[in-house]
Amino acid sequence: MTQRAYKFRFYPTEEQQQILAKTFGCVRYVYNWGLRLKTDAYYQTGKRLYYKDLSAQMTVLKRQPETVWLNEVSSVALQQALRHLDRAFINFFEGRGGYPQFHKKHGKQSVTFASSAFKWDGESITLAKMSEPLNIRWSRRFTGIPSSVTVSRDAADRYHISILVDEEIPQAPTSENQVGIDLGLTDSVILSTGEKFGNPRFFRKDEKRLAKAQRRLAKKKKGSKNRDKERIKVARIHAKIADRRQDFLHKLSTRLINENQVIAVESLQVKNMIRNHHLAKSIADVGWGEFVRQLEYKAEWYGRTVVKIDKFYPSSKRCFDCGHIMPKMPLIVRHWTCPECGEHHDRDVNAAQNILAAGLAVLACGEAIRPARKLTRQREGRPQRSRKAN
Ligand SMILES: [Zn+2]
Repeated sequence: MTQRAYKFRFYPTEEQQQILAKTFGCVRYVYNWGLRLKTDAYYQTGKRLYYKDLSAQMTVLKRQPETVWLNEVSSVALQQALRHLDRAFINFFEGRGGYPQFHKKHGKQSVTFASSAFKWDGESITLAKMSEPLNIRWSRRFTGIPSSVTVSRDAADRYHISILVDEEIPQAPTSENQVGIDLGLTDSVILSTGEKFGNPRFFRKDEKRLAKAQRRLAKKKKGSKNRDKERIKVARIHAKIADRRQDFLHKLSTRLINENQVIAVESLQVKNMIRNHHLAKSIADVGWGEFVRQLEYKAEWYGRTVVKIDKFYPSSKRCFDCGHIMPKMPLIVRHWTCPECGEHHDRDVNAAQNILAAGLAVLACGEAIRPARKLTRQREGRPQRSRKAN
């Protein structure tokens, strides 16, 4: 059984918007209240408060006349806020995150409902305290039973629901294909097969629009209605960029996992070693870390292998055919001819082929990442240049 999250957009009714706004407010209040108690306890007495301590105190809090309004929203949602706070502290103490911060009124709001706080009838979801099911835009189907749902409203005032489902995912049939992936400048993702994918420099394309909106925002008076409007505009542009990038990465990672048994990539750390400003920006645009993360979890679902090369390896400078290493390979060079064997290379495809070879070497012998200098040039031992003409 695997837990898988499905995210959908939904459109709340006026009434649902009001209930959610109230719930977001109460959840934020409880989270911040708990954070303050935990912080005070820790700094004043050195004592750590846990979920059960806070949960007991929350019962008292809900009886106080000045906070009795907390009873108007789902109590399960409030308890989840305390669980999230516990999780944030565990992450902090185990070095995975910074000290928990107070949740702010502006920006993204979210609330999690455990299974006792929503109804799922196989087709629709109704949240606690609501009379009607949510109007969800179901973009895909799932088969399992939802175990919890998280509802959020982003800074651009859009509503999403993320549904956590326990699912049995069938393993994909074994594939013969193996692929190496590199990140290029002009074509963002390059395969060892010679295929290249798009140029999703969404950010740079929208950069001007964003900069303009940000300048307009900076000119507005703090606390004014117009500033609020501009803030939402800026958030919308950010949201659009993020959506398009996610969409592109998901489609590509799903396809690569479907088609290949082994996928070789360089780790983000290796990518970051290349300290070229333009390249670094390009990496940020494409979201390499996110892409590798998607490949890894999808590989786990479907029984594929992602091999990460985490040592520096001269994939661009090395001739895939004979192993000759060029002394220099400036970024401007897109094509080159090997002085040793005379093979003509597309810079990025050659790099992706080397990454695949290095990845297979890692799989074969654990860690050696440098394949034999003289690779035999058997046709079948060599990834095809172009599998698909597109
Ligand atoms: Zn060569």
